[in-house]
Amino acid sequence: MLNISLKHYTNEALISELHILVFQERTLSLRVIAFLREVQCRSLHIEMGYVSLFTFCVEELKYSEGAAYYRINTMQIVEEMPEIKQAIETGELSMTTLSMVQSACKAKKKKTKIKVELKDKRELLEAVKGKSKKQTEAILHDHFPELRSSAKPESEKKLSDDLIGIFFNADPELMKKFKEIKDLTAHQNPSPSYQELFHMMSDFMLERIDPVRKAKRKAERQVKLKVHGKDQQRESEESKDKIQRKGESQLQPCEVESTVESTVEIPPPTPSHHCSAKTEQVIWTRAQSHCEHVDNKTGHRCSETRRLQLDHMIQYAVSYDSSEHNMQLLCTQHNLYRAKQWFGTPFMEQRMGRGSG
Ligand SMILES: [Zn+2]
Repeated sequence: MLNISLKHYTNEALISELHILVFQERTLSLRVIAFLREVQCRSLHIEMGYVSLFTFCVEELKYSEGAAYYRINTMQIVEEMPEIKQAIETGELSMTTLSMVQSACKAKKKKTKIKVELKDKRELLEAVKGKSKKQTEAILHDHFPELRSSAKPESEKKLSDDLIGIFFNADPELMKKFKEIKDLTAHQNPSPSYQELFHMMSDFMLERIDPVRKAKRKAERQVKLKVHGKDQQRESEESKDKIQRKGESQLQPCEVESTVESTVEIPPPTPSHHCSAKTEQVIWTRAQSHCEHVDNKTGHRCSETRRLQLDHMIQYAVSYDSSEHNMQLLCTQHNLYRAKQWFGTPFMEQRMGRGSG
């Protein structure tokens, strides 16, 4: 395609044809956005093992993160105001400026909890029509004074193969917390660098919140408890023997029985909706702390590592099985997707307080 020769075009014909192609490109972009919206409506991206439409655009469609972000923002704004399609086709509004407006409106809602009215958004779009990225930035800067900040954007920069420079903004409250942690751990390291401090805080947090570590600790505790129980039982049995031997000469049998009642018994595991700590550890290890949803058609597995939950493949009420063979680790999206498969979308939406409309 790129090897086609355009030498035979006159200058006028070349520019004219280029205008037509650019128009078609914009029309095609709108078509892509309409298709993305339909994928979202059908939750196809979830079924295919992607946790969000953004991940689907990046991993499945191979868009860059920026391109995916622009398209999703444009999709949302076109859905609210379908009349802007014409301005996109003519080039008066680009996906870049549309995305900037949508991002600013979202940021305002996040910061002030106030949604930008459709009327205001429409006026804003009129103001940025035909404007460059820089001009749009200036318009948004004036329009949303509440979003202005002296903070520099957070950034990560690879400095070498084993070193990454991180920049972030710290407020006085955070600096005070850092100082408190440094003071409280001064006996371990009197003057930690920020890297050492973050290592220490990360280790501390992971010990507390990492499900694999938690399950491992719990399983180890249960083993210790069993060993301790067996030790106590052995001690009791030895004590019982001792008393029995003594009782042969001094005590009646009924008195011996009443003396050995303190044996610690560990109840056997009973069938439960919840799996044991050992099983939990097996599942987290098997899943390598990733969502285990796999698209049956493509074999694509979800890559989500956040907010994972244990799920029964066949509902416990049906299977009575909480073993690792019937349990899987799912992200929130795929847990909800599975629940909708089991109980139906109307039921789940009603349960989540969304209603069916
Ligand atoms: Zn998932």
